[in-house]
Amino acid sequence: MKNYFLISAALLFLTSCQETKKEESSTEDISTEEVVPSKYVGEEPTTPEATEIYEPVPPKVTLNDKGVPSDAIVLFDGSTLDEWIHVQDSSAVQWQIMDDASLLVKDKSGDIRTKRDFGSMQLHIEWKSPTEIIGEGQSRANSGIFIQQRYEVQVLDNNDNDTYVNGQVGALYKQSVPLVMASVPTGQWNAYDIIFHAPEFDREALVTPAYVTVLHNGVLVQDHFEIEGFVKYIGWPEYQAHGKAPIQLQDHGDNSRVTYRNIWVREL
Ligand code: MG
Repeated sequence: MKNYFLISAALLFLTSCQETKKEESSTEDISTEEVVPSKYVGEEPTTPEATEIYEPVPPKVTLNDKGVPSDAIVLFDGSTLDEWIHVQDSSAVQWQIMDDASLLVKDKSGDIRTKRDFGSMQLHIEWKSPTEIIGEGQSRANSGIFIQQRYEVQVLDNNDNDTYVNGQVGALYKQSVPLVMASVPTGQWNAYDIIFHAPEFDREALVTPAYVTVLHNGVLVQDHFEIEGFVKYIGWPEYQAHGKAPIQLQDHGDNSRVTYRNIWVREL
């Protein structure tokens, strides 16, 4: 009888060990499948060459003397305003081209927009606040870049000028506080490099939200932020289905005197 109990206990122990092993190995199997993308599942490469890819070759892009990529659409280089019209009535742009090839916002003339529509894009744009300080908070050199006429990357003179942080320079207005404040001194040129992935809709329903990444003077201020909808001055953001749309620059209407220059875009 004693032997019977001993044998039973030993068998139970062995069975439980095997089950534990099974569980361990099945966990390993699952994690391997999850970690390795399906295109890599199969025979393990045995040579360095087996993991080298030669085609398709990426197209070559060169930069001109202003740093504009050869595959970019130049929206403003100081020579003409042919790419732009006023938002309100599609009339010729009243903003002023200055001697230094910059574009001065004409106060109370209204926003301007590109004639072309854009989807996902890489946008480069430089802007400058005037040296002479006028106004406080949101009323100090306020402008903005409305991607697809809906999603505003804020332009503001925030130097020694506090405001709500989701409306400060580098913010996705009323949605995303910038990671840092990276402005140069007032009166010097700032640069924004904006990578924008357009939202996708199925009829009226949102399928994929928009995402935006912003570098301010080369410093990351928006890191692949998931946009929550179009910008509202009063109210929470919400999406409304749309297709490709223009880039819009803001005339805030309070003597901002912001200037822009060197605007180009690459469609993604
Ligand atoms: Mg603004």
